[in-house]
Amino acid sequence: MSIVKGRTGDWEMVIGLEVHAQVISNSKLFSGADTTFGAEPNSQVSLVDAAFPGMLPVINGKCVEQAVRTGLGLKAQINMVSVFDRKNYFYADLPAGYQISQFTQPIVGKGEILLDLADGSGCTVGITRLHLEQDAGKSMHDQSPTETYVDLNRAGVALMEIVSEPDMRSGEEAGAYLKKLRAILRYLGTCDGNMEEGSMRCDVNLSMRRVGDTKLGTRCEIKNVNSIRFVQQAIDYESVRQVEILEDGGVIKQETRLWDTTKGETRSMRSKEEAHDYRYFPDPDLLPLKLEAAFVEAIKKTLPELPDDKKARFIKDYGLTPYDASVLVAERASADFFEKVAKGRDGKLAANWVTGEFFGALNKQGKTIETSPVSADALGGLVDLIADQTLSNRLAKEVFEAMLESGKPAAQIVEEKGLRQVTDTGAIEKAIDAILAANADKVAEYRGGKDKLFAFFIGQVMKSTGGKANPAMLNELLKKKLNG
Ligand code: ADP
Ligand code: MG
Repeated sequence: MSIVKGRTGDWEMVIGLEVHAQVISNSKLFSGADTTFGAEPNSQVSLVDAAFPGMLPVINGKCVEQAVRTGLGLKAQINMVSVFDRKNYFYADLPAGYQISQFTQPIVGKGEILLDLADGSGCTVGITRLHLEQDAGKSMHDQSPTETYVDLNRAGVALMEIVSEPDMRSGEEAGAYLKKLRAILRYLGTCDGNMEEGSMRCDVNLSMRRVGDTKLGTRCEIKNVNSIRFVQQAIDYESVRQVEILEDGGVIKQETRLWDTTKGETRSMRSKEEAHDYRYFPDPDLLPLKLEAAFVEAIKKTLPELPDDKKARFIKDYGLTPYDASVLVAERASADFFEKVAKGRDGKLAANWVTGEFFGALNKQGKTIETSPVSADALGGLVDLIADQTLSNRLAKEVFEAMLESGKPAAQIVEEKGLRQVTDTGAIEKAIDAILAANADKVAEYRGGKDKLFAFFIGQVMKSTGGKANPAMLNELLKKKLNG
Protein backbone atom coordinates (compact mmCIF):
# COMPACT_ATOMS: atom_id res chain seq x y z
CA MET A 1 0.00 0.00 0.00
CA SER A 2 1.35 3.40 -0.74
CA ILE A 3 0.14 6.20 1.47
CA VAL A 4 -0.52 9.72 0.24
CA LYS A 5 0.18 12.17 3.03
CA GLY A 6 -2.34 14.98 3.11
CA ARG A 7 -2.57 18.08 5.30
CA THR A 8 -5.20 16.42 7.45
CA GLY A 9 -3.98 12.83 7.50
CA ASP A 10 -3.06 9.76 5.52
CA TRP A 11 -4.90 8.56 2.42
CA GLU A 12 -5.02 5.21 0.69
CA MET A 13 -5.24 4.61 -3.07
CA VAL A 14 -7.85 2.23 -4.46
CA ILE A 15 -7.16 1.16 -8.02
CA GLY A 16 -9.01 -1.06 -10.49
CA LEU A 17 -7.79 -1.58 -14.06
CA GLU A 18 -9.65 -2.28 -17.27
CA VAL A 19 -7.39 -3.69 -19.97
CA HIS A 20 -8.30 -3.97 -23.62
CA ALA A 21 -6.23 -6.76 -25.11
CA GLN A 22 -6.32 -7.31 -28.84
CA VAL A 23 -6.92 -10.97 -29.62
CA ILE A 24 -4.30 -12.69 -31.76
CA SER A 25 -6.35 -13.93 -34.69
CA ASN A 26 -5.94 -13.65 -38.46
CA SER A 27 -9.40 -12.21 -38.94
CA LYS A 28 -11.83 -9.98 -37.08
CA LEU A 29 -14.41 -10.91 -34.45
CA PHE A 30 -17.41 -10.97 -36.81
CA SER A 31 -15.86 -10.72 -40.30
CA GLY A 32 -13.16 -12.32 -42.40
CA ALA A 33 -11.15 -9.10 -42.86
CA ASP A 34 -7.41 -9.21 -42.13
CA THR A 35 -5.99 -7.87 -38.84
CA THR A 36 -2.30 -7.30 -39.68
CA PHE A 37 -0.92 -4.18 -37.95
CA GLY A 38 0.33 -1.23 -39.99
CA ALA A 39 -1.51 -1.93 -43.26
CA GLU A 40 -2.55 0.82 -45.70
CA PRO A 41 -5.57 2.68 -44.16
CA ASN A 42 -8.95 1.15 -45.03
CA SER A 43 -7.38 -1.81 -46.84
CA GLN A 44 -8.70 -4.35 -44.33
CA VAL A 45 -12.37 -3.50 -44.15
CA SER A 46 -15.20 -5.86 -45.02
CA LEU A 47 -18.77 -4.80 -45.64
CA VAL A 48 -19.62 -5.99 -42.12
CA ASP A 49 -16.92 -3.76 -40.59
CA ALA A 50 -18.15 -0.78 -42.60
CA ALA A 51 -21.70 -1.58 -41.40
CA PHE A 52 -23.32 -1.75 -44.81
CA PRO A 53 -27.05 -2.27 -44.54
CA GLY A 54 -28.10 -5.89 -44.44
CA MET A 55 -24.67 -7.29 -43.59
CA LEU A 56 -24.73 -9.93 -40.85
CA PRO A 57 -22.01 -10.70 -38.28
CA VAL A 58 -20.61 -14.26 -38.09
CA ILE A 59 -18.71 -15.16 -34.94
CA ASN A 60 -15.05 -16.10 -35.44
CA GLY A 61 -14.40 -19.39 -33.62
CA LYS A 62 -10.71 -18.61 -33.19
CA CYS A 63 -11.50 -15.49 -31.13
CA VAL A 64 -13.83 -17.50 -28.89
CA GLU A 65 -11.10 -20.08 -28.39
CA GLN A 66 -8.60 -17.34 -27.50
CA ALA A 67 -10.97 -15.81 -24.93
CA VAL A 68 -11.55 -19.20 -23.29
CA ARG A 69 -7.82 -19.88 -23.33
CA THR A 70 -7.19 -16.57 -21.59
CA GLY A 71 -9.94 -17.28 -19.06
CA LEU A 72 -8.34 -20.62 -18.23
CA GLY A 73 -4.94 -18.94 -17.91
CA LEU A 74 -6.43 -16.48 -15.42
CA LYS A 75 -7.89 -19.41 -13.44
CA ALA A 76 -11.27 -17.90 -14.13
CA GLN A 77 -14.75 -19.26 -14.46
CA ILE A 78 -15.68 -20.05 -18.07
CA ASN A 79 -19.31 -19.21 -18.76
CA MET A 80 -20.80 -21.89 -20.97
CA VAL A 81 -23.45 -19.43 -22.17
CA SER A 82 -22.70 -15.80 -22.92
CA VAL A 83 -24.51 -13.09 -24.82
CA PHE A 84 -23.46 -10.38 -27.26
CA ASP A 85 -25.05 -6.97 -26.70
CA ARG A 86 -25.13 -3.77 -28.66
CA LYS A 87 -23.53 -0.82 -26.89
CA ASN A 88 -24.94 2.22 -28.65
CA TYR A 89 -23.08 5.46 -29.14
CA PHE A 90 -22.45 7.85 -31.98
CA TYR A 91 -18.95 8.49 -33.24
CA ALA A 92 -17.32 8.93 -36.64
CA ASP A 93 -15.10 5.87 -36.28
CA LEU A 94 -18.04 3.61 -35.36
CA PRO A 95 -20.02 3.16 -38.61
CA ALA A 96 -22.73 0.93 -37.15
CA GLY A 97 -23.55 3.39 -34.37
CA TYR A 98 -23.04 0.57 -31.89
CA GLN A 99 -20.25 -1.67 -30.72
CA ILE A 100 -20.95 -5.37 -30.27
CA SER A 101 -19.83 -6.21 -26.74
CA GLN A 102 -20.89 -8.39 -23.83
CA PHE A 103 -22.63 -6.75 -20.91
CA THR A 104 -24.64 -8.86 -18.47
CA GLN A 105 -23.32 -12.27 -19.55
CA PRO A 106 -19.60 -12.20 -20.39
CA ILE A 107 -17.76 -15.27 -21.68
CA VAL A 108 -15.43 -15.35 -18.65
CA GLY A 109 -16.29 -14.61 -15.01
CA LYS A 110 -14.25 -14.31 -11.83
CA GLY A 111 -10.56 -15.19 -11.74
CA GLU A 112 -7.34 -13.95 -10.19
CA ILE A 113 -3.80 -12.83 -10.87
CA LEU A 114 -0.83 -13.23 -8.55
CA LEU A 115 1.43 -10.17 -8.44
CA ASP A 116 5.19 -10.28 -7.84
CA LEU A 117 6.31 -7.18 -5.94
CA ALA A 118 9.79 -5.68 -5.82
CA ASP A 119 10.41 -6.68 -2.19
CA GLY A 120 9.87 -10.33 -3.10
CA SER A 121 6.36 -10.49 -1.64
CA GLY A 122 3.22 -11.22 -3.62
CA CYS A 123 -0.49 -10.48 -3.51
CA THR A 124 -3.51 -11.53 -5.52
CA VAL A 125 -5.81 -9.24 -7.47
CA GLY A 126 -9.28 -10.41 -8.39
CA ILE A 127 -10.43 -10.50 -11.99
CA THR A 128 -14.06 -9.47 -12.22
CA ARG A 129 -14.69 -10.60 -15.77
CA LEU A 130 -13.38 -10.91 -19.30
CA HIS A 131 -15.64 -10.19 -22.23
CA LEU A 132 -15.27 -10.14 -25.99
CA GLU A 133 -16.02 -6.99 -27.95
CA GLN A 134 -15.23 -5.21 -31.21
CA ASP A 135 -12.66 -2.48 -31.52
CA ALA A 136 -13.68 0.79 -33.18
CA GLY A 137 -11.95 2.45 -36.13
CA LYS A 138 -9.37 5.19 -35.72
CA SER A 139 -9.92 8.90 -36.23
CA MET A 140 -6.82 10.53 -37.66
CA HIS A 141 -6.56 14.21 -36.75
CA ASP A 142 -3.00 14.78 -37.92
CA GLN A 143 -3.34 14.07 -41.67
CA SER A 144 -4.87 17.36 -42.73
CA PRO A 145 -5.11 20.79 -41.10
CA THR A 146 -8.86 21.03 -41.69
CA GLU A 147 -10.21 17.51 -41.82
CA THR A 148 -10.35 14.37 -39.74
CA TYR A 149 -9.89 11.09 -41.59
CA VAL A 150 -11.14 7.71 -40.49
CA ASP A 151 -9.25 4.42 -40.82
CA LEU A 152 -11.50 1.41 -40.38
CA ASN A 153 -8.77 -1.26 -40.41
CA ARG A 154 -9.17 -1.69 -36.68
CA ALA A 155 -12.98 -1.58 -36.77
CA GLY A 156 -14.32 -4.98 -35.76
CA VAL A 157 -11.01 -6.39 -34.54
CA ALA A 158 -11.58 -8.65 -31.52
CA LEU A 159 -10.70 -7.28 -28.09
CA MET A 160 -10.81 -8.95 -24.73
CA GLU A 161 -11.77 -6.46 -22.04
CA ILE A 162 -10.29 -7.73 -18.83
CA VAL A 163 -11.67 -5.97 -15.74
CA SER A 164 -9.99 -6.19 -12.33
CA GLU A 165 -11.51 -5.78 -8.89
CA PRO A 166 -10.52 -2.55 -7.11
CA ASP A 167 -7.83 -4.52 -5.27
CA MET A 168 -4.67 -2.54 -5.98
CA ARG A 169 -3.26 -0.04 -3.49
CA SER A 170 -0.27 1.54 -5.24
CA GLY A 171 1.22 2.43 -8.58
CA GLU A 172 3.72 -0.37 -8.07
CA GLU A 173 0.91 -2.91 -7.72
CA ALA A 174 -0.80 -1.56 -10.84
CA GLY A 175 2.49 -1.92 -12.72
CA ALA A 176 3.02 -5.45 -11.40
CA TYR A 177 -0.55 -6.36 -12.43
CA LEU A 178 0.00 -5.16 -16.00
CA LYS A 179 3.34 -6.94 -16.25
CA LYS A 180 1.90 -10.22 -15.00
CA LEU A 181 -1.21 -9.97 -17.16
CA ARG A 182 0.91 -9.20 -20.20
CA ALA A 183 3.21 -12.14 -19.44
CA ILE A 184 0.25 -14.51 -19.13
CA LEU A 185 -1.29 -13.27 -22.40
CA ARG A 186 2.03 -13.71 -24.19
CA TYR A 187 2.64 -17.18 -22.78
CA LEU A 188 -0.85 -18.15 -23.88
CA GLY A 189 -0.38 -16.59 -27.31
CA THR A 190 -3.72 -14.78 -27.05
CA CYS A 191 -2.43 -11.16 -27.24
CA ASP A 192 1.02 -9.82 -28.10
CA GLY A 193 0.81 -7.31 -25.23
CA ASN A 194 2.41 -4.55 -27.26
CA MET A 195 1.30 -1.32 -25.56
CA GLU A 196 3.07 1.02 -28.04
CA GLU A 197 1.17 -0.44 -30.98
CA GLY A 198 -2.03 -0.28 -28.95
CA SER A 199 -2.65 -4.01 -28.83
CA MET A 200 -2.88 -3.69 -25.05
CA ARG A 201 -4.51 -0.53 -23.66
CA CYS A 202 -5.27 0.32 -20.08
CA ASP A 203 -7.95 2.40 -18.33
CA VAL A 204 -7.04 3.30 -14.77
CA ASN A 205 -9.83 3.69 -12.20
CA LEU A 206 -8.72 5.42 -9.04
CA SER A 207 -10.34 6.68 -5.87
CA MET A 208 -8.93 7.76 -2.53
CA ARG A 209 -10.06 7.06 1.01
CA ARG A 210 -8.70 7.76 4.46
CA VAL A 211 -6.48 4.98 5.78
CA GLY A 212 -8.74 2.71 7.83
CA ASP A 213 -11.94 3.53 5.93
CA THR A 214 -13.67 0.54 4.38
CA LYS A 215 -16.07 2.37 2.10
CA LEU A 216 -14.89 3.11 -1.43
CA GLY A 217 -14.59 6.72 -2.52
CA THR A 218 -15.80 8.14 -5.84
CA ARG A 219 -13.46 7.20 -8.67
CA CYS A 220 -12.19 8.81 -11.80
CA GLU A 221 -11.31 6.77 -14.86
CA ILE A 222 -8.17 7.68 -16.80
CA LYS A 223 -8.59 6.38 -20.35
CA ASN A 224 -6.16 4.65 -22.66
CA VAL A 225 -2.86 5.05 -20.88
CA ASN A 226 -0.38 3.40 -23.22
CA SER A 227 2.61 2.35 -21.15
CA ILE A 228 3.21 0.92 -17.71
CA ARG A 229 5.36 3.90 -16.80
CA PHE A 230 2.56 6.30 -17.76
CA VAL A 231 0.08 4.27 -15.70
CA GLN A 232 2.26 4.76 -12.65
CA GLN A 233 2.80 8.46 -13.35
CA ALA A 234 -0.92 9.01 -13.90
CA ILE A 235 -1.70 7.29 -10.60
CA ASP A 236 0.82 9.44 -8.73
CA TYR A 237 -0.59 12.61 -10.22
CA GLU A 238 -4.27 11.72 -9.91
CA SER A 239 -4.02 10.52 -6.29
CA VAL A 240 -2.56 13.83 -5.17
CA ARG A 241 -5.14 15.78 -7.19
CA GLN A 242 -8.01 13.92 -5.55
CA VAL A 243 -6.59 14.29 -2.02
CA GLU A 244 -6.24 18.05 -2.51
CA ILE A 245 -9.89 18.33 -3.56
CA LEU A 246 -11.11 16.13 -0.71
CA GLU A 247 -9.07 17.98 1.91
CA ASP A 248 -10.40 21.31 0.66
CA GLY A 249 -13.87 19.96 1.44
CA GLY A 250 -14.73 19.28 -2.20
CA VAL A 251 -16.20 16.17 -3.79
CA ILE A 252 -14.75 14.06 -6.60
CA LYS A 253 -16.89 14.16 -9.71
CA GLN A 254 -17.06 10.73 -11.31
CA GLU A 255 -15.61 11.43 -14.72
CA THR A 256 -13.43 10.21 -17.53
CA ARG A 257 -10.01 11.84 -17.71
CA LEU A 258 -7.05 11.54 -20.00
CA TRP A 259 -3.34 11.40 -19.26
CA ASP A 260 -1.39 14.19 -20.95
CA THR A 261 2.07 12.71 -21.44
CA THR A 262 3.78 15.98 -22.25
CA LYS A 263 2.33 17.99 -19.37
CA GLY A 264 2.42 15.05 -16.95
CA GLU A 265 -1.14 15.63 -15.71
CA THR A 266 -4.63 14.17 -16.00
CA ARG A 267 -7.33 16.30 -17.63
CA SER A 268 -11.10 16.01 -17.65
CA MET A 269 -12.51 14.56 -20.89
CA ARG A 270 -16.17 14.10 -20.12
CA SER A 271 -18.44 13.28 -17.24
CA LYS A 272 -18.83 9.56 -16.73
CA GLU A 273 -21.54 7.94 -18.81
CA GLU A 274 -23.78 5.39 -17.13
CA ALA A 275 -24.63 1.98 -18.53
CA HIS A 276 -28.17 3.14 -19.36
CA ASP A 277 -26.73 5.87 -21.58
CA TYR A 278 -25.54 3.12 -23.90
CA ARG A 279 -28.95 1.46 -24.24
CA TYR A 280 -27.47 -2.01 -24.10
CA PHE A 281 -29.60 -4.79 -25.55
CA PRO A 282 -28.85 -8.29 -26.91
CA ASP A 283 -27.79 -8.13 -30.55
CA PRO A 284 -30.73 -9.60 -32.48
CA ASP A 285 -28.35 -10.73 -35.26
CA LEU A 286 -26.43 -13.03 -32.92
CA LEU A 287 -27.56 -16.09 -30.99
CA PRO A 288 -26.32 -16.59 -27.43
CA LEU A 289 -22.85 -18.13 -27.53
CA LYS A 290 -23.01 -21.68 -26.16
CA LEU A 291 -19.80 -23.58 -25.47
CA GLU A 292 -19.45 -27.33 -25.31
CA ALA A 293 -17.59 -28.90 -22.41
CA ALA A 294 -15.37 -30.83 -24.83
CA PHE A 295 -14.33 -27.57 -26.53
CA VAL A 296 -13.19 -26.08 -23.21
CA GLU A 297 -11.47 -29.33 -22.18
CA ALA A 298 -9.56 -29.51 -25.45
CA ILE A 299 -8.23 -25.97 -24.93
CA LYS A 300 -7.28 -26.79 -21.34
CA LYS A 301 -5.08 -29.62 -22.60
CA THR A 302 -3.02 -27.25 -24.75
CA LEU A 303 -2.24 -24.66 -22.04
CA PRO A 304 1.49 -24.05 -21.63
CA GLU A 305 3.23 -23.91 -18.27
CA LEU A 306 2.38 -20.38 -17.09
CA PRO A 307 4.70 -17.87 -15.38
CA ASP A 308 3.68 -18.64 -11.76
CA ASP A 309 4.13 -22.38 -12.17
CA LYS A 310 7.37 -21.91 -14.03
CA LYS A 311 8.64 -19.61 -11.30
CA ALA A 312 7.81 -22.15 -8.58
CA ARG A 313 9.56 -24.87 -10.56
CA PHE A 314 12.67 -22.75 -11.12
CA ILE A 315 12.90 -22.08 -7.38
CA LYS A 316 12.46 -25.75 -6.56
CA ASP A 317 14.53 -27.39 -9.30
CA TYR A 318 17.33 -24.89 -9.74
CA GLY A 319 17.50 -23.35 -6.25
CA LEU A 320 16.85 -19.83 -7.57
CA THR A 321 15.79 -16.90 -5.41
CA PRO A 322 12.17 -15.79 -5.98
CA TYR A 323 13.51 -12.56 -7.44
CA ASP A 324 15.76 -14.23 -10.04
CA ALA A 325 12.99 -16.67 -10.90
CA SER A 326 10.55 -13.78 -11.47
CA VAL A 327 12.99 -11.99 -13.74
CA LEU A 328 13.59 -15.13 -15.78
CA VAL A 329 9.95 -16.13 -16.25
CA ALA A 330 8.81 -12.61 -17.21
CA GLU A 331 9.29 -13.56 -20.87
CA ARG A 332 8.95 -17.05 -22.21
CA ALA A 333 12.05 -16.59 -24.36
CA SER A 334 14.26 -15.75 -21.38
CA ALA A 335 12.85 -18.65 -19.34
CA ASP A 336 13.60 -21.06 -22.21
CA PHE A 337 17.06 -19.58 -22.68
CA PHE A 338 17.83 -19.97 -18.99
CA GLU A 339 16.69 -23.59 -18.94
CA LYS A 340 18.98 -24.42 -21.85
CA VAL A 341 21.92 -22.85 -20.02
CA ALA A 342 21.04 -24.47 -16.70
CA LYS A 343 20.27 -28.00 -17.91
CA GLY A 344 22.78 -30.36 -16.23
CA ARG A 345 24.66 -27.44 -14.66
CA ASP A 346 24.66 -25.38 -11.47
CA GLY A 347 21.31 -23.56 -11.73
CA LYS A 348 22.27 -20.65 -9.51
CA LEU A 349 25.48 -20.02 -11.42
CA ALA A 350 23.56 -20.19 -14.70
CA ALA A 351 20.91 -17.75 -13.37
CA ASN A 352 23.59 -15.31 -12.25
CA TRP A 353 25.15 -15.29 -15.67
CA VAL A 354 21.88 -15.04 -17.57
CA THR A 355 20.35 -12.25 -15.44
CA GLY A 356 23.67 -10.48 -14.87
CA GLU A 357 26.28 -10.31 -17.63
CA PHE A 358 24.09 -11.72 -20.39
CA PHE A 359 21.00 -9.50 -19.93
CA GLY A 360 23.33 -6.55 -19.24
CA ALA A 361 25.08 -7.08 -22.56
CA LEU A 362 21.81 -7.46 -24.49
CA ASN A 363 20.56 -4.23 -22.92
CA LYS A 364 23.73 -2.38 -23.79
CA GLN A 365 23.69 -3.58 -27.38
CA GLY A 366 19.94 -3.08 -27.82
CA LYS A 367 19.58 -6.77 -28.70
CA THR A 368 17.07 -9.45 -27.75
CA ILE A 369 17.50 -13.14 -27.04
CA GLU A 370 16.56 -13.84 -30.65
CA THR A 371 19.32 -11.58 -31.99
CA SER A 372 21.88 -12.34 -29.29
CA PRO A 373 25.45 -12.96 -30.47
CA VAL A 374 25.85 -15.56 -27.69
CA SER A 375 23.64 -18.65 -27.80
CA ALA A 376 22.42 -20.59 -24.77
CA ASP A 377 24.80 -23.43 -25.64
CA ALA A 378 27.72 -21.04 -25.84
CA LEU A 379 26.87 -19.45 -22.47
CA GLY A 380 26.50 -22.96 -21.04
CA GLY A 381 30.01 -23.71 -22.28
CA LEU A 382 31.30 -20.70 -20.37
CA VAL A 383 29.48 -21.78 -17.22
CA ASP A 384 31.16 -25.21 -17.54
CA LEU A 385 34.59 -23.57 -17.57
CA ILE A 386 33.75 -21.67 -14.39
CA ALA A 387 32.39 -24.78 -12.70
CA ASP A 388 35.51 -26.85 -13.48
CA GLN A 389 37.79 -24.05 -12.25
CA THR A 390 39.32 -23.33 -15.64
CA LEU A 391 38.10 -19.75 -15.26
CA SER A 392 37.74 -17.48 -12.26
CA ASN A 393 34.72 -15.19 -12.32
CA ARG A 394 36.98 -12.38 -13.39
CA LEU A 395 38.51 -14.26 -16.28
CA ALA A 396 35.07 -15.51 -17.26
CA LYS A 397 33.92 -11.91 -17.69
CA GLU A 398 36.86 -11.29 -19.97
CA VAL A 399 36.06 -14.40 -22.00
CA PHE A 400 32.40 -13.37 -22.18
CA GLU A 401 33.38 -9.98 -23.62
CA ALA A 402 35.36 -11.77 -26.30
CA MET A 403 32.44 -14.11 -27.00
CA LEU A 404 30.18 -11.11 -27.55
CA GLU A 405 32.62 -9.67 -30.06
CA SER A 406 33.68 -12.77 -31.95
CA GLY A 407 30.83 -15.22 -31.40
CA LYS A 408 33.47 -17.89 -30.74
CA PRO A 409 32.95 -20.61 -28.12
CA ALA A 410 34.39 -19.96 -24.65
CA ALA A 411 36.85 -22.87 -24.76
CA GLN A 412 38.38 -21.63 -27.99
CA ILE A 413 38.88 -18.14 -26.59
CA VAL A 414 40.52 -19.56 -23.47
CA GLU A 415 42.99 -21.50 -25.62
CA GLU A 416 43.69 -18.66 -28.06
CA LYS A 417 44.24 -16.05 -25.37
CA GLY A 418 45.80 -18.36 -22.81
CA LEU A 419 43.25 -17.30 -20.21
CA ARG A 420 43.14 -20.52 -18.25
CA GLN A 421 43.41 -19.67 -14.55
CA VAL A 422 46.35 -20.91 -12.55
CA THR A 423 45.27 -23.47 -9.96
CA ASP A 424 48.69 -25.01 -9.48
CA THR A 425 49.65 -24.28 -5.84
CA GLY A 426 53.35 -24.29 -6.60
CA ALA A 427 53.01 -21.69 -9.35
CA ILE A 428 50.86 -19.40 -7.21
CA GLU A 429 53.28 -19.74 -4.29
CA LYS A 430 56.16 -18.84 -6.55
CA ALA A 431 54.39 -15.70 -7.69
CA ILE A 432 53.58 -14.74 -4.08
CA ASP A 433 57.17 -15.27 -2.97
CA ALA A 434 58.44 -13.00 -5.71
CA ILE A 435 56.06 -10.21 -4.73
CA LEU A 436 56.79 -10.51 -1.00
CA ALA A 437 60.53 -10.47 -1.65
CA ALA A 438 60.26 -7.36 -3.76
CA ASN A 439 58.20 -5.58 -1.10
CA ALA A 440 59.94 -6.51 2.14
CA ASP A 441 59.16 -3.07 3.66
CA LYS A 442 55.42 -3.50 3.06
CA VAL A 443 55.52 -7.02 4.46
CA ALA A 444 57.00 -5.61 7.64
CA GLU A 445 54.29 -2.92 7.79
CA TYR A 446 51.61 -5.56 7.30
CA ARG A 447 52.99 -7.72 10.06
CA GLY A 448 53.16 -4.58 12.19
CA GLY A 449 49.35 -4.29 11.94
CA LYS A 450 48.60 -2.51 8.65
CA ASP A 451 45.96 -5.06 7.54
CA LYS A 452 44.88 -3.01 4.57
CA LEU A 453 48.04 -4.01 2.70
CA PHE A 454 46.57 -7.46 2.13
CA ALA A 455 44.62 -6.15 -0.83
CA PHE A 456 47.79 -4.59 -2.19
CA PHE A 457 49.59 -7.96 -2.21
CA ILE A 458 46.61 -9.64 -3.86
CA GLY A 459 46.61 -6.96 -6.54
CA GLN A 460 50.33 -7.34 -7.18
CA VAL A 461 50.21 -11.11 -7.50
CA MET A 462 47.18 -10.89 -9.78
CA LYS A 463 49.04 -8.41 -11.93
CA SER A 464 52.12 -10.56 -12.15
CA THR A 465 50.04 -13.60 -13.17
CA GLY A 466 48.05 -11.68 -15.76
CA GLY A 467 44.92 -11.96 -13.61
CA LYS A 468 45.02 -15.73 -13.87
CA ALA A 469 45.70 -16.82 -10.30
CA ASN A 470 42.71 -18.62 -8.80
CA PRO A 471 41.36 -15.98 -6.39
CA ALA A 472 40.37 -18.32 -3.57
CA MET A 473 43.67 -20.20 -3.64
CA LEU A 474 45.67 -17.00 -3.85
CA ASN A 475 43.81 -15.62 -0.86
CA GLU A 476 44.48 -18.67 1.22
CA LEU A 477 48.13 -19.10 0.28
CA LEU A 478 48.92 -15.42 0.77
CA LYS A 479 47.33 -15.47 4.23
CA LYS A 480 49.44 -18.47 5.16
CA LYS A 481 52.65 -16.85 3.95
CA LEU A 482 52.05 -13.50 5.63
CA ASN A 483 50.76 -14.79 8.94
CA GLY A 484 52.64 -18.07 9.14
P1 ADP B 1 -17.49 0.87 -15.88
O1 ADP B 1 -17.87 -0.24 -16.79
O2 ADP B 1 -18.49 1.94 -15.80
O3 ADP B 1 -16.15 1.42 -16.15
P2 ADP B 1 -17.16 -1.01 -13.65
O4 ADP B 1 -18.06 -1.17 -12.48
O5 ADP B 1 -17.08 -2.12 -14.61
O6 ADP B 1 -17.51 0.33 -14.35
O7 ADP B 1 -15.73 -0.74 -13.04
C1 ADP B 1 -14.67 -0.44 -13.80
C2 ADP B 1 -13.39 -0.54 -12.99
O8 ADP B 1 -13.40 0.39 -11.90
C3 ADP B 1 -13.12 -1.89 -12.36
O9 ADP B 1 -11.78 -2.22 -12.64
C4 ADP B 1 -13.31 -1.65 -10.88
O10 ADP B 1 -12.46 -2.45 -10.11
C5 ADP B 1 -12.94 -0.20 -10.72
N1 ADP B 1 -13.61 0.47 -9.61
C6 ADP B 1 -14.91 0.43 -9.27
N2 ADP B 1 -15.15 1.22 -8.22
C7 ADP B 1 -13.97 1.80 -7.87
C8 ADP B 1 -13.58 2.73 -6.85
N3 ADP B 1 -14.45 3.25 -6.00
N4 ADP B 1 -12.29 3.09 -6.82
C9 ADP B 1 -11.40 2.59 -7.69
N5 ADP B 1 -11.71 1.71 -8.65
C10 ADP B 1 -12.98 1.33 -8.76
MG1 MG C 1 -14.90 1.57 -17.77
